[in-house]
Amino acid sequence: MLIHKKMKTVIFLVMAGLFIQSACSQVNTKQVMGTTDTSGLKVVRTDAEWKKILTPAQFNITRLKGTERPFTGKYWNTFEKGTYVCVCCGAVLFRSDTKFESGCGWPSFYEQDSHANIKLRRDTSYGMIRTEVVCGNCCAHLGHVFDDGPPPTGKRYCINSDALKFIPGKQP
Ligand code: FE
Repeated sequence: MLIHKKMKTVIFLVMAGLFIQSACSQVNTKQVMGTTDTSGLKVVRTDAEWKKILTPAQFNITRLKGTERPFTGKYWNTFEKGTYVCVCCGAVLFRSDTKFESGCGWPSFYEQDSHANIKLRRDTSYGMIRTEVVCGNCCAHLGHVFDDGPPPTGKRYCINSDALKFIPGKQP
């Protein structure tokens, strides 16, 4: 009877171990999908840590490469003077004087503020070839950039509101 009990305990511990290992593997896979390359980043956090800082919508956009529905984000129609920073790490990304009305329903800019704070990556998801825009500081997914913007750059940085935090006021 005692041996039987011990066997049950051993089986339970083995099963629990396998479950924990499986759960960790899933988290790691998710992290790799969300941040394919963490080398050179100034801010690196686990998904659990990001979830404590971000709202579910912000986490979905920035860490899981989600896209908010057009004309629903808080900044698509904002044209006040100010600075747009990364909602995850606070890096300065865009300024209001490069924001324009694109009609696409997402905040649109024709130029990034700092080429050090933004990185571009080839994105072949959903059967399309696009250029993904990510924060160079923390690897947050921001949106995509297209070649149909206005002069002087001809670029349209199509960015999710939930990836941004707007700081109103005079731009430095
Ligand atoms: Fe960032």
